[in-house]
Amino acid sequence: MENIKILKGFKTRITGMPDLSVIQMPDPETIAVSALDIPYIRPKLLVKENDSVKTGTPLFCDKRNKCISYVSPATGIVKKIVFGDRRRLQEVVIALYKNIDKNLDKNLDKTLDKNSGKTDDFIQFETLPETDVEKIPRSKIINLLQQGGLWQCLREFPSRDTADENHAPPMIIVSLNGNDLFSPHPKVIIENETSFFEFGLKILKQFSNRIIVTSRKSSLDMLNGFKDHITHAVPDFYPSWDPAVVLYQLKKTREENRSWCITAEHLILIAKLLLTGRYPVKRVVTVTRKNDKKPHLIIRQGAPVQGLVGHLSDKYIITTGRFNGRLVDPKSHMGFFENTLNIIPDNHKEELFGFIQPGLSKSSVSRTFLSCLSNSPKDLDANTHGEERACINCGYCTSICPVDLAPNFIMKALFSDDIEDALSYGLLDCCRCGLCSYTCPSKIELTKILSDGMEAHYKDKE
Ligand code: SF4
Ligand code: SF4
Repeated sequence: MENIKILKGFKTRITGMPDLSVIQMPDPETIAVSALDIPYIRPKLLVKENDSVKTGTPLFCDKRNKCISYVSPATGIVKKIVFGDRRRLQEVVIALYKNIDKNLDKNLDKTLDKNSGKTDDFIQFETLPETDVEKIPRSKIINLLQQGGLWQCLREFPSRDTADENHAPPMIIVSLNGNDLFSPHPKVIIENETSFFEFGLKILKQFSNRIIVTSRKSSLDMLNGFKDHITHAVPDFYPSWDPAVVLYQLKKTREENRSWCITAEHLILIAKLLLTGRYPVKRVVTVTRKNDKKPHLIIRQGAPVQGLVGHLSDKYIITTGRFNGRLVDPKSHMGFFENTLNIIPDNHKEELFGFIQPGLSKSSVSRTFLSCLSNSPKDLDANTHGEERACINCGYCTSICPVDLAPNFIMKALFSDDIEDALSYGLLDCCRCGLCSYTCPSKIELTKILSDGMEAHYKDKE
């Protein structure tokens, strides 16, 4: 196992880390497949309201490649299709079979009786043998994953769009720690699933000769018996374990900029689909809030957010990441790629003479407050402590960027419509970690500016 040396990032400990307990959540009344957290997709609906669907029925596909399906993680009836601006698909909501009173369509399995305990009527996909994986043609694996609704788990750099099936990636990075500070712990994800993970690695070897498996150093002690699979250990501060940061540290050639990545949880799902022929519906998520018990929850994919966070007052906001997540409407459902919900105080109170307070419990990267002298966990809330101002060239954003960018220069290039300059400053290496926005004393939304610039450039090239 190699150690990857990463020097920059967010090194402060913060309150609210999830513990390792696990709770199995009951099935909700509805689930949804959201198109909102799937970057670049142009969804084409394949169902209409009141259609009955089995677990594994395709709900929508990607118009750019209609073979890539997004399938139903439950058996039931399409209750509602939610559109946003310009009729862009947001969610397909499914009422679960067990909660429907009337008889379902005759296409559904008649043994799905409410008293039988059976909740899913699965579409049965073709399975692969556990051995001799190297003899299976790559095209067959692609076909099964696209039909089975899990090809999109493989993402391609630099945009992190769905992997291009016609491309042979020089490297595939498997992240055991997800992308967020509070992503589910690899022990919870991998425990009892090692054989699926190992099969998943064999599948990845059909696509690339170089498979990198990364883990945070602090997770290693709890992964005894599994360490042989880990090729690289990364430091324990955010976002060292993000595959884009790992790629930045390892790449040596231009071709490696088009490597792929996948999380350990998605790799296990892929293996389950290929070995059992059934779409795996369970997901592990963390729900974190200061001073609360913070367990890992096992839920059905697309569960309603409200059922996971309970009823919250408007003093809180919910995000899917401390520094770079989306703001979540409690009435929506968990997205395909989302596995954390952070409940954060929505504190916009102005502090009188805040700049002369000692700030013993304040999190700050600038060493302005006395809190920098102690290693105890600090609180983070949604207070930006001020309005957006002009850049003062302080350099804080550069000093925290884990991939050595100067976000202020890139921002200025983008504002002058000089994409060539922005690219030459390394725009495409940005991992969208959110740290530059967090640290900027002028409250400039650098991550959003860079992220929009990358997306515009990528869509232009498409
Ligand atoms: S942190 Fe903000 S103010 Fe400082 S250089 Fe970067 S963009 Fe400018
Ligand atoms: S530019 Fe900002 S968002 Fe991008 S990697 Fe650097 S710190 Fe993170």
